[in-house]
Amino acid sequence: MSDRIPGLHHVTAIAGPPQRNVDFYVGLLGLRLVKKTVNFDDPGTYHLYYGDEAGRPGTILTFFPWAHAVPGKAGSGMTSETAFSIPADTLDAWKQRLAAAGHAFDAPTERFGERVLAFRDPDGLPLAFVAHLVAQGAVDGEAIRSFHSVTLRLAAPAQTARLLTDLFGYEAAGEEDGRLRFHAPGQAPGNIIDLVASEARGRPGAGTVHHIAFRAHDEAEQLAWREKVRSFGLFVTEVKDRNYFRSIYFREPGGVLFEIATDPPGFTADEPADALGTHLKLPPWLEPRRAQLEAQLPPLRIPEMAGR
Ligand code: ZN
Repeated sequence: MSDRIPGLHHVTAIAGPPQRNVDFYVGLLGLRLVKKTVNFDDPGTYHLYYGDEAGRPGTILTFFPWAHAVPGKAGSGMTSETAFSIPADTLDAWKQRLAAAGHAFDAPTERFGERVLAFRDPDGLPLAFVAHLVAQGAVDGEAIRSFHSVTLRLAAPAQTARLLTDLFGYEAAGEEDGRLRFHAPGQAPGNIIDLVASEARGRPGAGTVHHIAFRAHDEAEQLAWREKVRSFGLFVTEVKDRNYFRSIYFREPGGVLFEIATDPPGFTADEPADALGTHLKLPPWLEPRRAQLEAQLPPLRIPEMAGR
């Protein structure tokens, strides 16, 4: 059993109309839709999961898309940027692909020695590509390989920093332009968290991150984390069955909603690897309501994956 968090499991954000969301993430960014299901706490809306070919932990970006979601704005106590690793030599090709699609992006900058291309999704969610020197994965070409990092905006980063180092086992990896970097030891995807001080309050809504999830290797390790988070003085939920993983949630001292999710059973729990994302999947307790939910959910056309 590990007493360190290896990195991110998934990031969950709020979006506007689902078709626009899938067109962007599959059609332009080339992620795979690895699961089409519903929000278990609000089953009249989709929960869409994007990731790499296999939907591995550390590559999963998920959305609750509401057609009439009110736009939000990242601020203090929220995740302000989600960054993907790309192979170091593909940044120019990504600029060309975004430009060809008429999609705006910022001039590339540099952070901690790596080139960063910042842009937003159609709902305004701040994203970035980081030309990662050690980007890993088995895919070729321009494909996104995994998360690189998330940036948290905090009124007082010191308490969150202490949680990352003293509880999760992250290591401080320096400061640059007011950005504090923390790095989970090892080479797991998405093992970097940046903290930026900000007093400005945000507003949850479309284009903002709802929560970020960290990895536990199995249920026993998750239960151990639950006790450790409680001992750290934070309120933590009971274990919730999310069908593809089990989850516990707590608000870290700066106000960001954290989750710890198990690696198993993963997205092949209810459909084969080559069919991931092709059918609406429901957890057993919602299966009796399938006809009603299918009538309620807007139809979704899955575009060809860009670059494949
Ligand atoms: Zn989650």
